[in-house]
Amino acid sequence: MKLIRFGNEGAEKPGVQLGDGSRIDASEFGMDWGEDFFADPENFEKLSSWVEANAESAPRVADDTRLAPCVAKPGKLICIGLNYSDHAAEAGMQIPEEPIVFFKATSAICGPNDPVVIPRNSEKTDWEVELAFVIGKRANYVSQENALDHVAGYLLHNDYSERAYQLERGGQWVKGKSCDTFAPIGPFVATPDELGDIDNLGMWLKVNGETKQNGNSGTMIFGIAHLVSYLSEFMSLIPGDIISTGTPPGVGMGFNPPQFMKAGDIVELGIEGLGESRQEAIAYAG
Ligand code: ZN
Repeated sequence: MKLIRFGNEGAEKPGVQLGDGSRIDASEFGMDWGEDFFADPENFEKLSSWVEANAESAPRVADDTRLAPCVAKPGKLICIGLNYSDHAAEAGMQIPEEPIVFFKATSAICGPNDPVVIPRNSEKTDWEVELAFVIGKRANYVSQENALDHVAGYLLHNDYSERAYQLERGGQWVKGKSCDTFAPIGPFVATPDELGDIDNLGMWLKVNGETKQNGNSGTMIFGIAHLVSYLSEFMSLIPGDIISTGTPPGVGMGFNPPQFMKAGDIVELGIEGLGESRQEAIAYAG
């Protein structure tokens, strides 16, 4: 199944993307795609039956409707740094011995095609196509063997990063990762059965039509089961939490000279099986 959310901010509704690509309003099902929904795997079976019975009669979501973040109010947005060996190299950093974990403010989350706002005075706004996943059953101290039982689905994420805030302002990376609109997610959450081999998904990102990133989830250093198990040693992973697994090479700061974003740029990205998203960069105005 592919879970979407749609509608304007503050009035977002749950929906489902059908096999033919059309989208239906699933409000009648009675749950939004948040913590309560993801907590119980039976909800997916119930939703699947609901879709089967109602796909034809449910209201359609018009193509020009805004797609909203496909997970409602995740409690955490956790990211993994330098998790692709070739990206670590372009960033001039060592391959980590343990996963590098950082947070991104959940207030950075926005819809997949919402504009990305370049922060006030920013000169180093950068892109990062990433494979993310959403937690189903609560996880703490889970083994790698059982880890994937706690993953409810997968999604596309652009981990926008302000490199000066991240690397030149002291302290932790969180400052360069958390600006409003720095976390477009979706278009949808795909349940694991929708995807082929999770360790072999092509991923790409273009700026103004030019390919910048062209990678594959197969070159990840720490895989998804490892990450779930590892993180669950330090904190409980709660249903609806989102974990983003790092980016392949081709980010702006890796070019010589570096390439950073400016208002008017169009960023497009996608992952095999997880759809595509598109953000237009706009200047901060407020
Ligand atoms: Zn990242």
